[in-house]
Amino acid sequence: MRTRLTSLVCAALSACLLSTAIAPNAVASTPQQVCTPEPANATWTGRTSDDSWARGIYPAHDDIASNTVALTFDDGPHRSRTPVALDLLEARDFSATFFLTGAAIRPSTYHLVQRIVAEGHVLGNHGWRHDTRMARRFDDPQQSEAYMASEFELTQIRVDLAMMATSKKDFSEMSKEVFGPLARRSNAETQLAAMPALRVRHAAVLAEHGFSEDNRPYRIEWARPPGGNPYLGHHNATQRDAFARALDQQGLALVMWNGGSGDSNPQLTKAERQDTAHLQKTVRKVARRGGVYVMHDRIDPGSLRTVLAAFVSRETDVVSLSHIMDEKLDAAGRCAPAEGPTRAQTSNEPAVIAQLAPLQGS
Ligand SMILES: [Zn+2]
Repeated sequence: MRTRLTSLVCAALSACLLSTAIAPNAVASTPQQVCTPEPANATWTGRTSDDSWARGIYPAHDDIASNTVALTFDDGPHRSRTPVALDLLEARDFSATFFLTGAAIRPSTYHLVQRIVAEGHVLGNHGWRHDTRMARRFDDPQQSEAYMASEFELTQIRVDLAMMATSKKDFSEMSKEVFGPLARRSNAETQLAAMPALRVRHAAVLAEHGFSEDNRPYRIEWARPPGGNPYLGHHNATQRDAFARALDQQGLALVMWNGGSGDSNPQLTKAERQDTAHLQKTVRKVARRGGVYVMHDRIDPGSLRTVLAAFVSRETDVVSLSHIMDEKLDAAGRCAPAEGPTRAQTSNEPAVIAQLAPLQGS
C-alpha cells in the first residue's frame, strides 16, 4: 500500500503545482513553485549534442532517487502467465506497467487487458507485431514515421476493442470488423495501406459504444520500442528522429530501462535465468541507483516470486512511471502537459470502471 500512497501523494502535489502554474491570473508569490508547461508534443532534447530523443524516461541517464524503482512487463498479454504475474503482484501489493504487443491481444487474452486495468496497473504500448526492425522498414523518413506510428496506433486500437468487449465472441467480431484481413504477418506496406480504411471502421465501432477518438475507453500514455530500437543497436539520427515524431503524433512518451531479470536474455541458460543469486543481484543493482526494471509476462513464476521478495526485503519504493516522469519534469523546472495523456486518462477512469464489470470470456 505504501507504494500506491506514494504515487497518489505525488500526483496530488503535481496537480497543485500545475494548477498554480496555469491559473490565468496567478501571481508568482512563491517563484520556486512556478514551472514552464511542457508542450504536449514537445520532443525531449537529448543528453548529447547530436541526438534528439523522444520525450520520456531514460533511466540510464536520468536522475532517479536511489531505491526507487518502476516495474514493467513486456510482450503480453500471455494467456497463462499474465494471470500468474497479476496474482503475485497483488500478493505483494505492487503496481506495474504492462507493455502490450497489440497482436497478442486476442479472443483468448482480451479479458486480461481488462483485468490489468481493474487491478490498478497501467497499460503501455509495445507496438503491434513486435517489429524490432521497425525503424528500418522504409528509407523515406515520412513513410518510416507513418509506419512506426501505425505500429503503436494499432495496439491502441486493439486495447480499445479489448476494453469495450463483453465476451470472447464480442471481441472476436469487433476485431474482424475493424482489422479485416490485416494480420500480424502482413508486411509493412500492406499495413500502411490498410490504415485509412481501418481508422474509419474503428471510429464507427467506438461511436457504437459511446466513445470517440478523443474519448477512448483507455488512452495509453507510455511506449517501449521492441528490442529498445532505435535507441539500441545500429540506428542513425534520422531513424531516431522519425521514431520520436511517430511517438509524438500518437501522444506517447518513451520508457527505456536500466535493469531487468534477464528472463528473455538468450545469452543465459534457463537455469541461469532462474538462479536466485542472479535474480537478487539484478534487483540489488537496479535498486542501488533507482530506475526502471524490465521483465516479460512469460517470466517463470518462481523467478518472479524471487524478484518481488527481493524488492520487499530491500524496502524498495516501487513507484509508477508517472511518478518518475513527474520528478524528472519537476527537476527540469517543467510541468506535465495540462491536456496530456495522464490528465485525459484520469478523466476517463470512471468510464473505464463502468465498462469493466463483469469480467468475461476467458
Ligand atoms: Zn518485447
